[in-house]
Amino acid sequence: MSRSAHPAGPRHADVLPEGHYSAPAADLNALDEKVWSRTVTRDADGALTVGGIAVARLAEEFGTPAYFLDESDFRARCRAWADAFGPDADVFYAGKAFLSRAVVRWLTEEGLNLDVCSGGELTTALDAGMPAERIAFHGNNKTVAEIERAVTAGVGRIVLDSFQEIVRVAHIAQRHGVRQRVQIRVTVGVEAHTHEFIATAHEDQKFGIALADGQAAEAVRRALSLDGLDLIGVHSHIGSQIFDMAGFEVSARRVVQLLAEIRDEHGVELPEIDLGGGLGIAYTSDDDPREPHEIAKALSDIVTRECEAAKLRTPRISVEPGRAIVGPTAFTLYEVGTIKPLEGLRTYVSVDGGMSDNIRTALYDAEYSVALVSRTSDAEPMLVRVVGKHCESGDIVVKDAFLPADLAPGDLIAVPATGAYCRSMASNYNHALRPPVVAVRDGEARVIVRRETEEDLLRLDVG
Ligand SMILES: *Cc1c(COP(=O)(O)O)cnc(C)c1O
Repeated sequence: MSRSAHPAGPRHADVLPEGHYSAPAADLNALDEKVWSRTVTRDADGALTVGGIAVARLAEEFGTPAYFLDESDFRARCRAWADAFGPDADVFYAGKAFLSRAVVRWLTEEGLNLDVCSGGELTTALDAGMPAERIAFHGNNKTVAEIERAVTAGVGRIVLDSFQEIVRVAHIAQRHGVRQRVQIRVTVGVEAHTHEFIATAHEDQKFGIALADGQAAEAVRRALSLDGLDLIGVHSHIGSQIFDMAGFEVSARRVVQLLAEIRDEHGVELPEIDLGGGLGIAYTSDDDPREPHEIAKALSDIVTRECEAAKLRTPRISVEPGRAIVGPTAFTLYEVGTIKPLEGLRTYVSVDGGMSDNIRTALYDAEYSVALVSRTSDAEPMLVRVVGKHCESGDIVVKDAFLPADLAPGDLIAVPATGAYCRSMASNYNHALRPPVVAVRDGEARVIVRRETEEDLLRLDVG
């Protein structure tokens, strides 16, 4: 279905504006299983349920806006990734997508490893009992204090991001009398987003060390020469919300080439490569993500083929999905407030949250879907823009979508696929209180991150 197409079917205005939307679904009450978490369905009364609990009950008990996380779906996705990659590879969940102590426990139980990129994420991981050796520490500007904590906690790997950091981590490790396992993050000259990848000749970005000009080879030389470091491999992360494997193909080929150069120069075959995260999910019905087993097979085939060509032992592969695990497992529930029809344009539907609980639309022009979930409706579709309550005209949650024309204040609507980068990027703009994350499983709902209160706001304000 082509986007920007003029929608067919019923419409609330004679002329619909240009926009980035598809025709309305034939049945607005239908829930596309691609964008909703696995236990979501409608009950006999037409209300959306998750984990067997109807949204009206959830709204009453936990308030709105709120994120509802489908725990069994989260666990199933962890297992699917672990099973797809098998015992000869490692799956690291990228904690920045969403991290809480409950999530850390689920990951630990389901056998996944964990990426962290700050002292705060490291603290959460360790506090909830993730074994340190299953943690990888990332970031382009880790502080000395953060590196000290990671080294003394015994994290499984630190991903080195610059020449300065190679020396910094080596010194700290030596001071503590340990050899820290490390990888070097390289930039391979590929940037991948959604349906295309771009070859970038110049590495004009803050992450990693460029393969170009022999920079990465020089970083390897230095890391191998320092006693405090145990260089276990090379790391590459090429983008986000990627559907097309072609970017990974190029990235894997270049990383394997580097491993071959390292073997030729130093006589060592590094045992691991990490191909990063960035795998796409369905935010709307137009998105068709791949299953973990397809991704695992594609990556493993590429690496095996390239290693055979370079006469290298196939290294252990690791991947770092964040969005692909947690993204599809949660939706945000909002209550509809003001509804403002703009004749000939669209209807603005205001909700009780906005850019403070989902900044992705404003930040990345991200696309989302939305559905009326407290009831079904047979009313005709109307073109809406779902907006928040913040003092900012860019405060948009869903830019273009269709909701039933009989939508009324007090209705509950939900935006699916908000598990990744929504709560973790939430802000207090306009002194908004950040919403809770409620885990739902087998008929039970429990808060795993509570709603902020006005007391929380005032507690930080010590002036
Ligand atoms: C952000 C990030 C990830 C996770 O990306 P997703 O798009 O959530 O899969 C993995 N690895 C690194 C190094 C990252 O920076």
